[in-house]
Amino acid sequence: MLAPGRSSMGVLRDRCYEVAKLIGKMSMQVVICGAGVIGAAAAYELSRRGIAVTVIERWRVAGAASGKSGGFLARDWCRGTPVAVLAERSFDLHAAWARDLGDRYGYRRVDTFAVAVSDRRKLARAHRANVAGWLAADISHRRRIGSRDTTAQIDPEAFTRTLIEAATSRGARLFIGTVAGLRTSRDGSRAEGVTLEDGRDLAADAVIIAMGPWSVLAAHWLPMPAVYGLKGHSILFRPEAMLPSETVFVDFEDTDGETYAPEIVPRADGTLYVCGLSSSAPLPRDPAKVNPEPGGCEKLGAISLRLVPLLGSAKVLASQACHRPITADGIPLIGPVPQVAGAFIATGHSVWGMLNAPGTAEALGELIVDGRTRHVPIAAFSPSRLPALAPNALSIALNQA
Ligand SMILES: Cc1cc2nc3c(=O)[nH]c(=O)nc-3n(C[C@H](O)[C@H](O)[C@H](O)COP(=O)(O)OP(=O)(O)OC[C@H]3O[C@@H](n4cnc5c(N)ncnc54)[C@H](O)[C@@H]3O)c2cc1C
Repeated sequence: MLAPGRSSMGVLRDRCYEVAKLIGKMSMQVVICGAGVIGAAAAYELSRRGIAVTVIERWRVAGAASGKSGGFLARDWCRGTPVAVLAERSFDLHAAWARDLGDRYGYRRVDTFAVAVSDRRKLARAHRANVAGWLAADISHRRRIGSRDTTAQIDPEAFTRTLIEAATSRGARLFIGTVAGLRTSRDGSRAEGVTLEDGRDLAADAVIIAMGPWSVLAAHWLPMPAVYGLKGHSILFRPEAMLPSETVFVDFEDTDGETYAPEIVPRADGTLYVCGLSSSAPLPRDPAKVNPEPGGCEKLGAISLRLVPLLGSAKVLASQACHRPITADGIPLIGPVPQVAGAFIATGHSVWGMLNAPGTAEALGELIVDGRTRHVPIAAFSPSRLPALAPNALSIALNQA
């Protein structure tokens, strides 16, 4: 039935307009810079929406923090912060994506505990009868901080790779190459593609900067705020025994009174991941050159053994370090870059990049295809809330030696 005052020609014209708009979107080319979890999730989401995607990765898929993080997910731990809605939406999307993508990256719900251990002071003993019984016997203050309704985990490297594989199976392309610049219209007001270090040019209708802490390099090409890299160490063990679906956050004090906050994550594939020991060591320009600090993994290994005695007989599969991307106010940057139409940024997710990748990708998909987000308001993540970094201040954030 026609609405009053509308002719059938008018309705036909509107339909033609909608179809033309849809075809325009379908022929859209998006270049994503970086194949960490944020770039991979954006590639998956956009390719599901029928957009032609090219991902450009300097080193290897999930080679940086996205392959070395804990992969722990919590639905409500960001409550009271601007990230709360993004985290809740992302947690729910993780469950949906795991159903769509199948059992390829160890997604599972977990019980989560906080414990305290001191080698300096006597703390109240916890009851041994309760859970996480695989921890050392003198663990204190054991309390549940997450249930299977609110906490989960994934293998971060397998997750990131699965997203890239799912995107490429829908026609997305993955290039190994270093993005070295942005191509813009003559007046600089519109992004038109990227330039690679080897001189190749790739045309695009939209460009997403998702290079983790290396996104700061884009301050050479775009008016965008600083992004920093905070270094953390981690060890992946293969214990002889399979541990239950539990994750443990520890407050540990050694005999010298030094405090540490390691996270212990037994995974679905039988491995056990421990991370901790942050450092302010500078970010090398080349992601392949990130190495542990001298003594960093040795100290983390000794703490791991102190907390989980059964690791004495475990194989060490990896001793590694990576930089998580952080912003000046600790809130991610997600959205259009001011003054340059078609340029988008998605980084600065700090300790919650694995968690918040699906919601970030969904928001980018909605922004690029529909012009606005539907599920997560992103005003709080706007790059324009922070001052743009002057390109000559880049060395503050990046070790260019
Ligand atoms: C020790 C540790 C534990 C963590 N644990 C958790 C956790 O349990 N849960 C959670 O949610 N989050 C966790 N995080 C945070 C999470 O890992 C990060 O927020 C997330 O991996 C960031 O992803 P990204 O895609 O933004 O960046 P990255 O993973 O850094 O990816 C950026 C990519 O860009 C590429 N690149 C760089 N320069 C260029 C260039 N010029 N051209 C093309 N490509 C380029 C890099 O090679 C890299 O692959 C942890 C972080 C650390 C350090």
